[in-house]
Amino acid sequence: MTAGGMWDAWMMTAPDAVLEHAPRPAETPGPGEATIEVAGCGVCHTDLSFLHGGVRTRSALPLVLGHEISGYVRAVGPGVDPALVGRPVVVPAVLPCGECDLCRAGRRSICRNQVMPGNDRHGGFASHVLLPARFICPVPDAVLRRHDLWELSVVADAVSTPFQAVKRSGLAAGDLAVCVGVGGIGVYGVQIASATGAKVVALDIDDAKLEQARAAGAHATLNVRDSSVQDARKQVKRLAGELGARPFLWKIFETSGTRAGQELAYGLIGYGATLSVVGYATGKVELSLSNLMAFDAVAQGNWGADPLVYPELMQWIADGRIAVRPFVERHMLADINDVFDRAHHGGLMKRAVLVPA
Ligand SMILES: [Zn+2]
Ligand SMILES: [Zn+2]
Repeated sequence: MTAGGMWDAWMMTAPDAVLEHAPRPAETPGPGEATIEVAGCGVCHTDLSFLHGGVRTRSALPLVLGHEISGYVRAVGPGVDPALVGRPVVVPAVLPCGECDLCRAGRRSICRNQVMPGNDRHGGFASHVLLPARFICPVPDAVLRRHDLWELSVVADAVSTPFQAVKRSGLAAGDLAVCVGVGGIGVYGVQIASATGAKVVALDIDDAKLEQARAAGAHATLNVRDSSVQDARKQVKRLAGELGARPFLWKIFETSGTRAGQELAYGLIGYGATLSVVGYATGKVELSLSNLMAFDAVAQGNWGADPLVYPELMQWIADGRIAVRPFVERHMLADINDVFDRAHHGGLMKRAVLVPA
């Protein structure tokens, strides 16, 4: 880790290149910053988009990727509560400034001064990371009784982002929630929707992922690999009926992060529907915006989550409404290139978390 005052790190140096092992000198936290010793860092679809999908990081390369970070605070800079040192924490994937007009308007996740680790600054595929301390979320003891710190890294995005989407959608008990794409983020979306008391229909093109979604609380599943959008819509309507949910006012969550998933999710919009776009896909979808008008429907998205939802989210994890452990798998940070490769080729059933040696 810090042999000779060095931090272990893996850098993205160029698109499609292998990540390079590049230990770098330890840094000292400046005003408002904290040093976190990484316990785990989740591998997100967005990391793959940076490496293989032509999406550019906001900071120039080379850059340490990774924005799903948990760990222990080891040092803090001026202006940060020294009581934070030694605390186990989760670092929200979006760290707002807390001071600007957008932050004061309650729109922290789109703060233009935000820091996203592994995008604006070096991220968590490292032994240590230096970040703004203000919105780092201490992990309550009640959560640590059920979880290891490394696995809570995925709370920073894979859990918090669908949590924010469900909250913003206004999903309520008895509603129909349709989750499109239930690998990665989606399986947490299923749990959160189900724990809200909604009837949950999970859609995917992979039977194994659908089975996992059922274990996570989906009430019905549908493999849409060979279905047209019209077919899928008919099937979902049938399932809604069987589950005793309404044929309208659906809350649709796009968590596949694929163009096909986005097309399907939009095609499911009916009367009074709310579509929440959670996954990120490059590429464009052709759609009729008039459907939003004709169906009096809403389409919205959320960029990560507001750090202020974390205390409630931690409560849900503490009391078991969200189970994190069954849907993550632990890998050594040194195996990062192999793990990225497998994630890139869809070879992982669970979210991979990289743990430093
Ligand atoms: Zn992510
Ligand atoms: Zn701000």
